[in-house]
Amino acid sequence: MANPGGGAVCNGTLHTHKTHSLGSQHGDGRKNGVTKDTQQNGNSPFHKPIVESFEQPPLHVMVFTYMGYGIGTLFGHFRDFLRNWGIEKCNAAVEREEQKDFVPLYQDFENFYIRNLYMRIRDNWNRPVCSAPGAQFDLMERVSDDYNWTFRLTGRIIKDVINMGSYNFLGLAAKYDESMRTIKDVLEEYGCGVCSTRQEMGTLDKHKELEDLVAKFLNVEAAMVFGMGYATNSMNIPALVGKGCLILSDELNHASLILGARLSGATIRIFKHNNTQNLEKQLRDAITYGQPRTHRAWKKILILVEGIYSMEGSILHLPQIVALKKKYKAYLYIDEAHSIGAVGPSGRGVVDFFGMDPRDVDVLMGTFTKSFGAAGGYIAGRKELVDYLRVNSHSAAYATSMSPPISEQIIRSIKFIMGTDGSTEGLQRVQQLAKNTRYFRQRLSEMGFIVYGNEESPLIPLLLYMPGKVAAFARHLLERKIGVVVVGFPATPLADARARICMSAAHTRENLDTVLEALDQLGDLLQLKYSRHRKSPRPDLYDETSFELED
Ligand code: PLP
Repeated sequence: MANPGGGAVCNGTLHTHKTHSLGSQHGDGRKNGVTKDTQQNGNSPFHKPIVESFEQPPLHVMVFTYMGYGIGTLFGHFRDFLRNWGIEKCNAAVEREEQKDFVPLYQDFENFYIRNLYMRIRDNWNRPVCSAPGAQFDLMERVSDDYNWTFRLTGRIIKDVINMGSYNFLGLAAKYDESMRTIKDVLEEYGCGVCSTRQEMGTLDKHKELEDLVAKFLNVEAAMVFGMGYATNSMNIPALVGKGCLILSDELNHASLILGARLSGATIRIFKHNNTQNLEKQLRDAITYGQPRTHRAWKKILILVEGIYSMEGSILHLPQIVALKKKYKAYLYIDEAHSIGAVGPSGRGVVDFFGMDPRDVDVLMGTFTKSFGAAGGYIAGRKELVDYLRVNSHSAAYATSMSPPISEQIIRSIKFIMGTDGSTEGLQRVQQLAKNTRYFRQRLSEMGFIVYGNEESPLIPLLLYMPGKVAAFARHLLERKIGVVVVGFPATPLADARARICMSAAHTRENLDTVLEALDQLGDLLQLKYSRHRKSPRPDLYDETSFELED
């Protein structure tokens, strides 16, 4: 998918040079068949090849998928018809009788879809969890007496379910043990809540300590932390750009980036996912034509991207994007929610992954909700940027600051990853995550599943396509005490439903093999092995003794 033109970056200029690609483009983004885009950059300081796969399914799979939705839709209309006539009970939100002359509030397609299709398989989402989201967790059993409209807890706990769905990349979201003692100390000293904003009474020494540590970890001048990752994006982007500015946003960006972009009042243009050719075209057009009608130059151009895209498992093509932003003098904002702590030889995210200079990125944003097992977000970069946000960010002015024990959990996690806690266990976890990721991806490919994304992405989308199989997949796995997240429309395109598997350093080889065995059997049972590029097993690839992280 990525780098459709095969743009290889050499000394900051883009050349077209494709080294390895099978199959044709899919909507300028995906390719038909396995794609391996490899950039080897002669003189550049980064030599990291990008190996990504976005295989398209055989035609019959698409035909059956659309047929499945077609049949579901026909039944949906039939059931709506019965509901209209009062023959079938309707539990969904409907127009009030006294407002029936109004323009309908609820009658859009997504509502039809939720009422008639999602409701049938709703048991696979929002399951109540009653333990820490470690490698294994406990679920509360629930049943429905009215075809999934409502659920009733049975009181039984499904214990030790293997957790393949939480973003607990480094296994730092765990239940309390003695190694977390400092969190308890902070809780005893400061309590839970701050009860004020950063600009009023809510700036604690703990926040200062954390911000210095984040800056040191990322190797930048300064950082500021916020109580919520989502608000870090949605409240800070409007502080950076506004009317007369242009945002170039990846089409698959997270909702928080989209909200921030919309709230800013800047003009938003979308470029194709991770497609540097398309981005360059948009940058060139923006500079050539300027603002619509007046043709004045844009005040600022901001490129909004993510480090790892969780639904695609793709990793940002940072070298090319940095080259473009320098060439066209645009600013770059990277959301590292999924990549910080999770990729790079020392767990410092995509900048580390590509061996690049953090100063090449204008705004480094990330969240503490994944690798750090905590909550909140950060913005890091130059001191001027951070000082500016301290004054202008709505999150600093109007939102209560981060809870002290949460700050301490992040401090503890960062020290652990950096090894300043006196152990090398943090780095070992980063390496373990990479090892688990490669092993799991390799085995899935050998089995013949279509898995998307970069071979080093710990987020592994396994394509299921057909709506019926989505439900069967999640239910069968839960019967075997394996918890996965399955995702479909509207979070993915209609026909591209998938399971999003999250790797963790806390998963043991035994955990992974149990899941792989179950997936292998389920893949045969549900006929999910759609890949035409099944990889041959090469056990030496994941021999523990020969494993080494590339740098
Ligand atoms: N940015 C990205 C890319 C995300 O995936 C998420 C959440 O998953 C967020 C921001 C929001 O972060 P949080 O959940 O910490 O509020």
